[in-house]
Formats: sequence, structure tokens, C-alpha cells
Amino acid sequence: MSDTLSLISRWVDENRDHCIEFLQNIISIPSPSGEEHQVAEYIASKMNEYGYNTAKVDKLGDVMGTIKGTGSGRSFLLNGHIDHVPVGDMVDPYSGKIMDGAVFGDAGEVLYGRAACDMKGAVAAMVLAGYTLNELGIKLKGDYKVAGVALEEVGGAGTKSTIVDSQFLADVVLIGEATNMELALGHRGSMKFDVIVHGRSCHASAPERGVNALYKAMKMITKIKDELAPSLPVHPIYGKASLVVTQITVSPEASNVVPETCHFVIDCRNHPMFTDEQLYEALNRIINELKSSDLEFNATVIPGTLINERKFTGFYTDPEKNSVVDEAVKAITEAYRSPEKKIWTFATDGRIYAHLGIPVIGFGPGEEKYAHTQMDHVRVDDYLDTIKVYAWLACQICGVS
Ligand SMILES: [Zn+2]
Repeated sequence: MSDTLSLISRWVDENRDHCIEFLQNIISIPSPSGEEHQVAEYIASKMNEYGYNTAKVDKLGDVMGTIKGTGSGRSFLLNGHIDHVPVGDMVDPYSGKIMDGAVFGDAGEVLYGRAACDMKGAVAAMVLAGYTLNELGIKLKGDYKVAGVALEEVGGAGTKSTIVDSQFLADVVLIGEATNMELALGHRGSMKFDVIVHGRSCHASAPERGVNALYKAMKMITKIKDELAPSLPVHPIYGKASLVVTQITVSPEASNVVPETCHFVIDCRNHPMFTDEQLYEALNRIINELKSSDLEFNATVIPGTLINERKFTGFYTDPEKNSVVDEAVKAITEAYRSPEKKIWTFATDGRIYAHLGIPVIGFGPGEEKYAHTQMDHVRVDDYLDTIKVYAWLACQICGVS
């Protein structure tokens, strides 16, 4: 182990209590999407205390901190969102309490609370990695930048604002969304399609006089679930495309009227072997099949409601084309252990940087399966190891002067 890495590792171990307390503090400040300002201001104040050269909060509640490099190295930006999904019925969601991990089937201690895994654990580690470097007097050549962004859970406006309004960018970007300490290189794209099924309303006391759009929609949804979804293609990098009906509404909304229209929404996670045109065609094929056996069936697909700014919203940082992947594997192996390369199941703000041509890698504590659940937590050791990994990655990517 290099001297610098030993110093980083020892500093984190010796300051374990402080590191845990910092994460507990940011978990204790509620920050559902749209209400991030308070936690952003707190993080900015800590960045100042930790020796960052600049720390600011923008109008959306994004916090951005920079440790200036001495020059000539690559800049490294670590991005994590500071908003979180609603707490629902979660018990003590803002406690950040330390628990025995056995309740979750984990060895050792865990830190529990809303956003521990998704993703204040990673954000805290990013901020503290900069603090570690500063405390040890390790001067990077390139800039070390942390973006704690707002509004990720509702579409990514926070990250877009840091780029468009603040030009907060770098040569290499790391996204700290949960990877369970493995190395993520991308994810599938997202598409939302709307389908409107048409019927004919009538008094609910005599349903035979109308055509129930809800019943007709059920036929189509059944085909989507039982025939289309299982048949989606598997891509060698991105894996299987997925598709699910997530929302349904009828019109008119009256308990005593047979509905004349039924509107449902499809969430599809796709890859280059299953495009928006292919989904549009597949849905129309189902409609035509249903029409051929049911003269009263009629539906319209509203295509192309991509939730993003471009056709394919996924991304992949190809190790063949980006040497930073091998560099990251090496650094993570040295600071922690050899990571597996993987693809996130969900979408991240990483796509926004990747679409600008910036290499994006992913590494974070916590497991995807606990995100958005009542069991939101991180293993304490993973959290502390993540601080070491981020600090060591920064040394490798930015260079030490
Ligand atoms: Zn997240």
C-alpha cells in the first residue's frame, strides 16, 4: 500500500466517529424533493469548515464545493443527490441510528434512516473524502468537485442546473448511487408511453348499453404483462429491457357511469435493441390483434414521451474506449477490494454527463434493493471504506502534486 493510501486509510479510521456523525446530521435534516435548501446550506457550511476553496448553494438547492487543484491534472466531479423520496410509514426515518445489521441480514453495524442508502451515505463520503485530503495536506493537481444535487428523484433538474447555470463540470464524473461497493458503468434508458382506450359511456345501472373502456383496457394490459413484457430482448451490455404498467385512470370519474375512456401509463426501461419505435409498433400490434377479435375494441398509443432530452436515455462507459475504467478498477482494488463491473438497474443523473461526452463511473455504498424502502440503510464499514475509495480515486484521477 502506498504511503498516501495508508495515510488516508488511517485518517478515516481515526476519525470514524466524526464521519458517522456527519452522515447522521445530514440524514436528520429532511430533504424530500423540492425541499433541499436546508440540508444544502448545512453541507456548504461544512465544506467551508473542511477547507474547500468554494462552496455555494444555487436557487434550486444544489450545493457545489470545490477544492482547487495546483494545475495540470484532470478535474474529478463526484455527484450525489441530496433529495429523497417520501418517508411513508418508515419508523424513525430521520434518526440515522446505528443498529446491528442482523435485522437486515448484514454483518456488523448499519446506519439506518431515509436516504442512508439513496443516497446521503455517498454524499457524506464525497464531502469527507475532500476533508481527508485537506487534513492530510495532500494537494491534488486537478480540481476536486462535489455536487450535492436537488430534484434527482423527480427527473434531474438539479444536476442540469449545476451544469447549465454554474458550468459545474469536470474531466471525469463519479455518480455515488448505490452499487453495493461494485463499479457501475451505465444503465438502460427510460421511456414513458401513454395508452388511451376508448369506449362508450352509459348509466352504470345498465352497463350493456355502453362499452366499458376499463374492461377493454384490462384486455390490453393483460397482453402487455403476459406476452409483451416477457418477450423483450436481452442486450449483451444492458441486459433485458423491462416494461410495466404503472398508472391507470378513467373518465368520467363517476361511480355510477360506465367509463368512456381509460388511460394507462407504461414505464419501459430499454436499450439499443428495443427502441421507442419498436415499443410503439409492439403496442399497435396488440391493439390490432384485439381489434380483430373484438369489434368494439379501440385504443390509441401516444408515443415518444421520452422522459429525457434524447432518444436513448441510457449510457455505458465502455472500458475499451475509456481508460478511466481500468484506472478506477485499480484504485478501488487498492483502497478496498477488486470490484465487479455492473450496470445499474435504475436510471441516474450520470446519463446527463455521459451525453455530454464525459466518462462517468459509478461507485457507492448501499444496495439498490433498499433504495426507496422502509429498510433504507448502509453498512457502517462500507460507508467508511467509500470515503477511502473516493479520496484514493481522486489522487489517481487528479494526480498528486
Ligand atoms: Zn438515488
